[in-house]
Amino acid sequence: MKELIIRCFCDIPEHQAILSYYPEHFARWGKDMCLQVHLCPGSFWRRVVAGIRHILGKRSVYGDFDEIELDVDEVERVIKFMEEFLKEKDND
Ligand SMILES: [Zn+2]
Repeated sequence: MKELIIRCFCDIPEHQAILSYYPEHFARWGKDMCLQVHLCPGSFWRRVVAGIRHILGKRSVYGDFDEIELDVDEVERVIKFMEEFLKEKDND
């Protein structure tokens, strides 16, 4: 497995995403890449309020999402990782 942890510009540890792929699985499972976004759970009471809102079916009109901000160095790391993925894909 190959993975890249992408950290948010704000340096809060919970603000990160992980890009990963499995070159050894390309032939059997397909050539794809996974993007996991880790969401900050927040305090106990914030989770209770979020749980109640969820039970009541409340949703943001914009849908559920979070974001991380990338500085130039992080963007360069992502591009390099993506290029490695494309090379691995062509080698298979
Ligand atoms: Zn952040």
